[in-house]
Amino acid sequence: MKIVKAEAIPIELRLKEPFVIANETVEHADNVFIRLETDTGIVGWGCSTPDTVTAEDRNTVLKNFELAKKLITGADPTRINLLNAVLEDNLKGNPSLKAGVNSALYDIIGKKAGMPLYLLLGGYRDKIETSVTIGLGSTDLMIEKAKQIVSQGFRCIKIKCGINVNNDLENIIAIRDVVGPTIKLRLDANEGYSVEDAISLIKTLEERNVDVEMLEQPTKASFLYSLKDVTVQCPVPIMADETALTLRDSIKLVKHEIADMINIKLMKIGGITNAIKANAIAESADVAVMVGCMNESMGAMSAGVHFACAFKNVQYADLDSALDFEHDVVTGGAKYEDGYVIPSNEPGLGVTVKL
Ligand SMILES: [Mg+2]
Repeated sequence: MKIVKAEAIPIELRLKEPFVIANETVEHADNVFIRLETDTGIVGWGCSTPDTVTAEDRNTVLKNFELAKKLITGADPTRINLLNAVLEDNLKGNPSLKAGVNSALYDIIGKKAGMPLYLLLGGYRDKIETSVTIGLGSTDLMIEKAKQIVSQGFRCIKIKCGINVNNDLENIIAIRDVVGPTIKLRLDANEGYSVEDAISLIKTLEERNVDVEMLEQPTKASFLYSLKDVTVQCPVPIMADETALTLRDSIKLVKHEIADMINIKLMKIGGITNAIKANAIAESADVAVMVGCMNESMGAMSAGVHFACAFKNVQYADLDSALDFEHDVVTGGAKYEDGYVIPSNEPGLGVTVKL
């Protein structure tokens, strides 16, 4: 089998409402769909969702796709490890572009094998509980959103914080009051806190008996030892996200015991092939992994769902971005049920793309 055609098709998806986090506000999301066609007629779909976190945008993806296209056209798409190495050797950075191409290759082998991707990858579980995220806003707005999420059957809420500890405390405590003790709450400060901020927030929550599952990326991505200070001093598990981009970052994080958990996003790490390695690094050091997402359409997010379900050490999922759009161009891929996200049982990613 050979790849005979490779295309990158950019789509701008509007969010239902602006999404505010400590380090940016987003109203629309660029998703670049990657379509690979083989000489046997199999079409593989992937999707790149560039983000400031990986220093990419739609233009870098489209520009650098031209090189990726030259490198993979004519190649056997089933040789994913070879093609991953070729892309890594010839194209520095660009992880979301690589993730899009890598997912399309996996979609092809899933279709060739007649198997859904999560089973082809080893199939540890059939579904995974996911959080749904509440962006920053007024306490009233955030409470409304929390009620909505719970009424849709979700049992885990991720609350954005990181701008002002006192406001954050007010929001978190109000949400806990409204949703009750059985709903899991996780926090994400997106680099917005100092070490002292993070510790005082967690201590106050403890004093108020407000239980939280984890705190994600409290401090600046580049200040590795600030993150470690928080990890050492906080009773709540600390997760690295913006600090965890490359495989080398994964090694650094576990070697120096910087964080208790790592958030692997396919768009940061460069696709499933690299995510398998990052998860193996984490698992070897007893560090649990969460699979998160950028502002990903189901075209991109479905790959994260399949990956998350395939591996035991992926104990957490934050795979909710497909819920955020006014209109997605993808059907299938995964569905939500009773707080879980469930991968499609169709071959490959199981997505249908209508551009
Ligand atoms: Mg995060």
